[in-house]
Amino acid sequence: MAKTKYISFECPYCHRLAKLEYIGLATEKTNETSAQRAWYRCARCKHSVLIAVADVESRKKSASTAIVRDNCTPYSKEKKFTIGQEIYHEEWDDVGRIVRKDKTSNGVQTIVVAFEKSGEKKLIENLALEEAE
Ligand SMILES: [Zn+2]
Repeated sequence: MAKTKYISFECPYCHRLAKLEYIGLATEKTNETSAQRAWYRCARCKHSVLIAVADVESRKKSASTAIVRDNCTPYSKEKKFTIGQEIYHEEWDDVGRIVRKDKTSNGVQTIVVAFEKSGEKKLIENLALEEAE
């Protein structure tokens, strides 16, 4: 199972809902496991932020349906994506989260995206551009 590497969280430095990259658990001595905290790096201001793990979990639940378009990667069939990544499909004007990855019988890599408006869709990824010889 792939771990979620990014979370959507309000950054205490730039005060905006930003994409935070998971760095690792904070190695501080504490007797309470519920007080465990983890380091994240803000994609906007690049600050390292210490966030309580319990806080992240509760935020994940409440924000699981809301995708912030500003944090989305524009979809392109030449790009390579990861599960859990949020993308924006310009043609459909829709945002979605990648739920799984697949490969067709002829070796084409695909991503399955749960779009907010369009529902679940399969898209091509990592398509090598064929060069005319
Ligand atoms: Zn920030």
